[in-house]
Order: sequence, then C-alpha cells, then structure tokens
Amino acid sequence: MAEAGDIERAVHVLRAGGLVAIPTETVYGLGADAENSTAVVRIFAVKGRPSNHPLIVHIGSASQLDDWAAEVPEPARRLAARFWPGPMTLVVRRSPRVPLVVTGGLESVALRVPAHPLALSLLSAFGGGVAAPSANRFGAVSPTNARHVREALGDAVDFVLDGGACAVGVESTIVDVTGDAPAILRPGGVSREDLERVIERRLPVNLEASVRAPGQHPSHYAPRAKVFLVEPDSILAEGERLQRLGRRVGLLLPAAFAPPHASDADQVVIVAPDSMAEYARRLYEFLRELDHRGCDVVVASLPAEDGLGLAIADRLRRAAGPR
Ligand code: AMP
Ligand code: MG
Repeated sequence: MAEAGDIERAVHVLRAGGLVAIPTETVYGLGADAENSTAVVRIFAVKGRPSNHPLIVHIGSASQLDDWAAEVPEPARRLAARFWPGPMTLVVRRSPRVPLVVTGGLESVALRVPAHPLALSLLSAFGGGVAAPSANRFGAVSPTNARHVREALGDAVDFVLDGGACAVGVESTIVDVTGDAPAILRPGGVSREDLERVIERRLPVNLEASVRAPGQHPSHYAPRAKVFLVEPDSILAEGERLQRLGRRVGLLLPAAFAPPHASDADQVVIVAPDSMAEYARRLYEFLRELDHRGCDVVVASLPAEDGLGLAIADRLRRAAGPR
C-alpha cells in the first residue's frame, strides 16, 4: 500500500512528463499530465494502443468541469453533481485546454472525477488533469490491484501508486452528452437505471456510436483463454464437450448451476457471486485466475442485464469477441 511521500513522488513524476499508475474505484489507470502531449503519447506506446482511441481525463472535482469542457449541457451538470466522485464518465465538447492527442483527434473529451482517496489526493496536489486509460496492454484484462499493473507493465510505468484493490472493479459508465439526447457509450460502474432517475429520461445504450472507443472493439477485456458464452443450464455440458476435445476448461458459473464437486485436475470451476456488485468487483480477477490456472477455454453465461449486470454482460461479450 501507499506510504508517506508517495503522493508527492507521483506529482513529481507527472510534472516531469512521466507515467504514474493510479488507483481508482473502477480499475487502475495509466496516467500522464493531460496537457503534456509528449507524456500522453507515451501512454499509447506503453499500452500498444492505437493513437486514435481517446483517453479519459481525470479531474479532482466537478468544479473543474468548465475548465476542460467547451460546453456543459444541463443533464451533464446534473449527472456530475450526483455521481462525481464516482464511476461515471461524461463525454462533452473539449475546451482548448485538452490536446488533440488525448482525444484521438476528436472534438469531444471524456472527463471523470474518480472516487478513490489516493486518486483524489493526487489530483488535488497535482492541480491539473490526468489522462489515463486502464493500466494494461491494449485488449487485455484491466488491472484491479497494483500487482496486476506491475505484472503487465513492469518498468514501462515510472511509478505505481498502490491504493489496494479496486472497490467497483469494472470501468466507468460513459455517457455522451454531445448529441441531441444523452446516450451510454459503455455500460459500467453506475447503472443505467440510476442515471435515468437523475436525468429523468431514457438513456439509450449506443455501443455502435463510438467505434473508436477501445471498449467497443470486438475483442477487449479478454483473458488469454478463449471465452464461450452459453445459457447457464448448458455450461456444464459445454464444459464436458470441450474437455472431451482435450481442452483445459474453466467454468464461470452461477451458484445455482454449480456442481457439488470442486475443480478437478482438468477443469477449473469458479462460482460467480449472486451479488452483481461482488461479481463486478471480482470479474477481472476471475478471468486472470482462469488464465493462471492454465485454462485454454472458459465457459460462462451472461447475467441478467440490469443494474451492474449490464456492465458485466458487456465485458463478458467483449472477452468472448472475435480475436
Ligand atoms: P480505457 O480506460 O482503456 O477503457 O479507455 C478509456 C475509455 O474512454 C475508452 O474506452 C473510450 O470508450 C472512452 N472515451 C474517451 N474519450 C472519448 C470520447 N471523446 N468519445 C467517446 N468515448 C471516449
Ligand atoms: Mg481499457
């Protein structure tokens, strides 16, 4: 965990144009000074991320929204007031303060105030915005603790601020307010229902609208193992079928469908928590564990797509997407 002096050290690295891994409540971010284009370019290089895929700019408080946005529509103000700090990102028109390298050339920018005490301390001490995607190689499972970051990025990151395990565990919900009506571009840590209650209207989930957003690629958030999605009552049979084909099978299945026996030598069983908050918090850890235990295929099912189930289902679909 972080020690005294770590915030100062992280600020120093950011000011010098370096990269800092920052803990947030969603996943760990790979951060750079958002106004230092050279530093931001390094993020893309380290991740292996195509340069036209925009980053989120993390800011210390909702009061800074107008410094980074050219225009803030009324629903965006309401959402920021209610959900920041928190796992919700707003896409607004960018102010001239945002370099185009951050937005992948777009005239919009994604902004968020993260709800993690260390991230907030860092942002407050730094004063500026921190551009950060998730701190993993492009396409891979996002890191939810500091060890995951070190394993994935090693010396490519100048400093890792260790804030423990992420409390939410899946990325932020991205809400685009640049169009005629607000829309969700990526489901995440704030549920669609909670957002709709605050803006008092329906929020379409518009996954197709942001083909440039990395979360929207066919395969993303993916473990090394190939992921198959089936109905929950078919998981065991599908697992057996794949096992007969000589595959090392991992099962990620709801408690109601779990077999009485535990994992055996050829099969790894992980029981998905009933609580969607708990499932979200541990989803990436499960996918990592299945990889670590040598599975080459994973069989899973989608949860009901309401509340946090919408984000979990989205990540599982992308993990199962064509490579
Ligand atoms: P990552 O942390 O790797 O998931 O990357 C940050 C996310 O922010 C991406 O997945 C994009 O979906 C999103 N994003 C950032 N800027 C924009 C923007 N201007 N328009 C739409 N989506 C954006
Ligand atoms: Mg990512």
